Amino acid sequence: MKAIFAMLLAGIALLQPVNGQFESDVIKTSEGDLEMFFIGHGTLMFKFKDLVIHIDPVMGEADYSTQPDADLILVTHQHGDHMDMTAINHLLKTGTRVVMTETCKEQLEDFEAVAMKNGDMETIQGVLIHAIPANNIVHTRSDGQAFHPKGEGNGYILKFGTTHVLIGGDTENIPEFKELNVHVDVAFLPMNLPYTMTPAMVADAARTLKPAILYPYHFGETDPQELVDQLKDEKEIEVRIRDLK
Ligand code: ZN
Ligand code: ZN
Repeated sequence: MKAIFAMLLAGIALLQPVNGQFESDVIKTSEGDLEMFFIGHGTLMFKFKDLVIHIDPVMGEADYSTQPDADLILVTHQHGDHMDMTAINHLLKTGTRVVMTETCKEQLEDFEAVAMKNGDMETIQGVLIHAIPANNIVHTRSDGQAFHPKGEGNGYILKFGTTHVLIGGDTENIPEFKELNVHVDVAFLPMNLPYTMTPAMVADAARTLKPAILYPYHFGETDPQELVDQLKDEKEIEVRIRDLK
C-alpha cells in the first residue's frame, strides 16, 4: 500500500509542468512567441526562442534552485527586493550574461557582469537592451534624499523581434519617458508607495508611453483596480493585472 502511494506521488511529481507555479502570458512577436512569467513583485522570467531571461531574481519570490538556468539576467538596482546573489548564483551556467548597474557591480568582487548606465544600449544574447533611467522625482526619504536617486538604477527596454518591452524598475513617471524614440508595446510599471508611483502617476506614465499592454507590478498594497479606473478612457491601453504584489 505504501509502495503504491509512493508511486502515485512520483507520478504526480512527473506531471508537474516546469514553472507551473507561475502564471504566464504569451505575446506574439515577429520572431516567435515571448512567454512572460509573473514571479512576483518586481521579479519576472521571460522565455524567447531558446533563451531564458530572468529579471531581478530574488529568493523572496521563488526558489531559484528549481528554476531554469539563465542565458541572461537583468538586475535593475541594488535593493534587496531586486538584487539577490543567492538567486543569481543558482541561475548561472556556462555562458550566462548578467547585466546590472555600476552600483550593483561595486558591491561585488570578482563577479563577471556587464554594467550598463542610463542611456546605454547593447545587444546581448541577441537581445537589444536599452538601459533607461529609473528614479524618484517627488518621493523622498525624510532627509530629502530620493529613495531611488537619478543615475543609480536602470529600467530596461528589451527588443524581441519588433516588439519592445519596457521594464520600469523602481521609478516614477520620469520626463525621459517622453524622449524614448521607440514605441513601447508592453510596459511593466511599479506602483507602491512611498517607493515608486501612485496609480495616478502610473496612469500618467502610461499616457506618455502608450503601451498596448500595461502590467502594473511591484504594487504591494496598492489596489490595482485604481489604475484600471484611472485608464478607463484610454481604449488603446489594455491594463493586465497579474500576481505581482
Ligand atoms: Zn528600490
Ligand atoms: Zn523595489
